[in-house]
Amino acid sequence: MKQLIIIPALLFLSFHQTREIQTAPPTGNRPKNIILMIGDGMGLTQITAGMYSNGNKLQLEKFPVTGLIKTYSARQLITDSGAGATAFACGCKTYNGAIGVCKNGKSAPTILEQAEQQGLATGLVATSSITHATPASFIAHVPDRADMQAIAAYFLQTDIDLFIGGGRKYFAERTVDKRNLVDELSAKGFEVTDYSTKKLQDITPSGSSPFAWFSASEEPAGVNEGRDYLPVAARMAPVFLKKRSEKGFFLMIEGSQIDWACHANNAPNTVREMLDFDAAIGEALRFAEADGETLIVVTADHETGGMALEQSRSPDTLDMTFQTKLHTATLVPVFAYGPGAEQFGGVYENTDIYRKMYDLFGFPVQEEEKKVGKNKKGRRFE
Ligand code: MG
Ligand code: ZN
Repeated sequence: MKQLIIIPALLFLSFHQTREIQTAPPTGNRPKNIILMIGDGMGLTQITAGMYSNGNKLQLEKFPVTGLIKTYSARQLITDSGAGATAFACGCKTYNGAIGVCKNGKSAPTILEQAEQQGLATGLVATSSITHATPASFIAHVPDRADMQAIAAYFLQTDIDLFIGGGRKYFAERTVDKRNLVDELSAKGFEVTDYSTKKLQDITPSGSSPFAWFSASEEPAGVNEGRDYLPVAARMAPVFLKKRSEKGFFLMIEGSQIDWACHANNAPNTVREMLDFDAAIGEALRFAEADGETLIVVTADHETGGMALEQSRSPDTLDMTFQTKLHTATLVPVFAYGPGAEQFGGVYENTDIYRKMYDLFGFPVQEEEKKVGKNKKGRRFE
């Protein structure tokens, strides 16, 4: 399927001019706060298509450090989002479909749970259901990503301070038990609202109680259907979490639907989702620039679609094409900004994202030789 990306001829003139976007690498080597931003399915081509479609500019260009990660999972060269996010959350390579468990099937503590243990505030934001593989891997421990109701129950087992995403029905319309987890969240002190009551932009959570906003009963709409809460959430969440703990915070923000647009081989929606995610990155950057103690790491769990930009018939347009409807094995980029950003340059494993965040937070050295030694031996390529 061929879909055109139009690059106005004027744009070429600006290629050699001074860019409007300035790079201002902040100093200091240890962050108090870490915002991990995951563009699901966001490879270099998705980024490039977004950039050219946006007048040759992205917020991502403000990041002074870039790296590349190897995304394969424990049993497959091509990962899914469960294994991909578990690598970031727990530091172990695992099998596709796993959520917060390593390849031996055992639960591993997540960076979010460890941040809570250390007294930090924590949050999850996604444009999928909040129980979907990527956010789920930071809070739940289940052998199968499809078990959304089991994943939802984990939100009651932690002290997470904020979550924003779809999937209300996995909390409120449960077939596996009679619990209503929305009521339980309220009883636990959460300020819980949802899309049917208020838009996220009309809410200013005080910070005195934990906060949850459900953006949909199941999966949220795409940007093409009017979804607009991701940049709002990216602006709100860091300010909120900063109020929740003096010790700092860990926040994961996912642009979930870049992946879905690529699975559908829908180039215009890929660009829309990419630019929505980039707008969210801009909001997080604004916070980090003012705060000075916040590290932002932007990466992807894998590339989706084998997307390419090919020469079109006209010299100022490109064809956006896809090789597959599935994920691919290509390396994906990492962008880092803020204290500790320099740690994220180079080519390394996706599991190192966890390790770098853990070390930069200055969390206690883990006794069990845990993932570090085992992972390396555990690499398999069958
Ligand atoms: Mg995802
Ligand atoms: Zn996918």
